[in-house]
Amino acid sequence: MPISIAICGAGPAGLTLARLLQISGLDVSVSVYERDASSTSRPSQGGTLDLHPDTGLAALRQAELFHASVQHLRYDGEEMVIADKNATTFIHMKEQPKWAGGKFARPEIDRENLQRILLDSVEASWIHWGKKLEDIEDDTRILRFRDGSTAGPFDLVVGADGAWSKVRHVLSDVRPQYAGVCGFAGLITAPDEVFPHISKQVGQGIYLAISDKRTLTAQRLGDASISVHAWLSREEHYAADLVGTYQYDESKLKQKIMDQYHDWAPELKQWIEVSSKIEARNLYELPVGHTWEHKRGYTLIGDAASLFTPFAGEGVNKAMKDSLVLCDALKDALQDGNGSLENLDMAVQAYETEMFVRAKFWQAETMKNKTHMFGDGGVPDFLAEMTLSVFREVGIDLSKGLWRFLPAHFCARWIATSVQKVGSWRRSIREWFRK
Ligand SMILES: Cc1cc2nc3c(=O)[nH]c(=O)nc-3n(C[C@H](O)[C@H](O)[C@H](O)COP(=O)(O)OP(=O)(O)OC[C@H]3O[C@@H](n4cnc5c(N)ncnc54)[C@H](O)[C@@H]3O)c2cc1C
Repeated sequence: MPISIAICGAGPAGLTLARLLQISGLDVSVSVYERDASSTSRPSQGGTLDLHPDTGLAALRQAELFHASVQHLRYDGEEMVIADKNATTFIHMKEQPKWAGGKFARPEIDRENLQRILLDSVEASWIHWGKKLEDIEDDTRILRFRDGSTAGPFDLVVGADGAWSKVRHVLSDVRPQYAGVCGFAGLITAPDEVFPHISKQVGQGIYLAISDKRTLTAQRLGDASISVHAWLSREEHYAADLVGTYQYDESKLKQKIMDQYHDWAPELKQWIEVSSKIEARNLYELPVGHTWEHKRGYTLIGDAASLFTPFAGEGVNKAMKDSLVLCDALKDALQDGNGSLENLDMAVQAYETEMFVRAKFWQAETMKNKTHMFGDGGVPDFLAEMTLSVFREVGIDLSKGLWRFLPAHFCARWIATSVQKVGSWRRSIREWFRK
């Protein structure tokens, strides 16, 4: 009898796992349950994701999908500007440093392209659409869906159903908490034709402005449009309430959002002015180091396991790596016909042990970024922290050994503060002449 595995959720984590299992050669029967009505019911998923070498890209490679992805991977999307509210540029990186030989390249991919590549690669009969999981019979592992149907029992239920997972409660009482940051997302369509100056300003990647416990970002998408995000450190319902109040008057809504950025440079505020399709966004997170006591027959991957904010750009990468590690553990334990439930259980425990450590690291990094982006320190604090993170990523921990004596954090902060001051004077002088 094949081992029966239910994967709840056909997002990046669930589909990557399904694909990896499909090509694993293991004797498993896999069913993916997704709440969306069909593969085309959510055509626009918005946003772009950067895939990292050892995680997202590694998962695509192991899933034999790298070649299918190449045409959608945008290496020029790595261009990045970090600025403050005066549009003073602190960092403008066009591409990854040449000396690294592309080792740290993190190409962008539009979310819907990644989803399509994964979907097309998974056996269609495995995916059950319109199956919104409502509940699970804990002992029998029978799934109950909103449409009244049931499925199971299964040998293993994998919760890949994102932030508000319906599988998580079997393993953990912890619920996502409001991350203290909410905001607005909008879209600038055809900027090359209609707003060429914005197009030039944003380049092929992302322009991120940070000041006063808020951010404004403009990011190029694969179809050349630009997605705009305004994130604010505000109370939980602020953005949703504003959108609710002005839902029939977009220009008033935009004015209200721009009021939050009243003393920001006009060339940044205009992104909001020319955006359309404005929506509210709230960010939630699970505590750093969220774990659970292992329970036979269940596990979680991706956001269901460890939800964090997007401020380290790590969520989808961690999600796909979870699938990679879980599938590898299953292969190690179940290959050569050793498909016993004991081996299955050992594999899941091995995955959880590895994932808990990895997730905690990225949750902590993301939390640091959030704290610095939305704290009092603004860009200088954020850049100083970013300097340490970059060193950590290339294997140098500046808090250890002789590195401790290098005041990298202090220097980065001091340089950024000086640049910020000069930038603010330059803006004042510019505006004085304009008057
Ligand atoms: C604004 C924003 C920007 C982001 N930017 C980045 C970024 O730049 N880089 C990055 O790496 N990450 C980013 N992330 C995070 C990233 O999107 C997630 O980490 C990633 O999508 C997690 O994948 P997942 O498959 O675990 O969950 P999801 O993508 O949430 O997929 C879950 C799937 O489960 C389905 N589902 C949900 N509930 C049920 C149910 N009850 N029954 C059945 N199916 C269900 C959903 O429909 C969905 O298909 C961002 C997140 C946000 C909110």
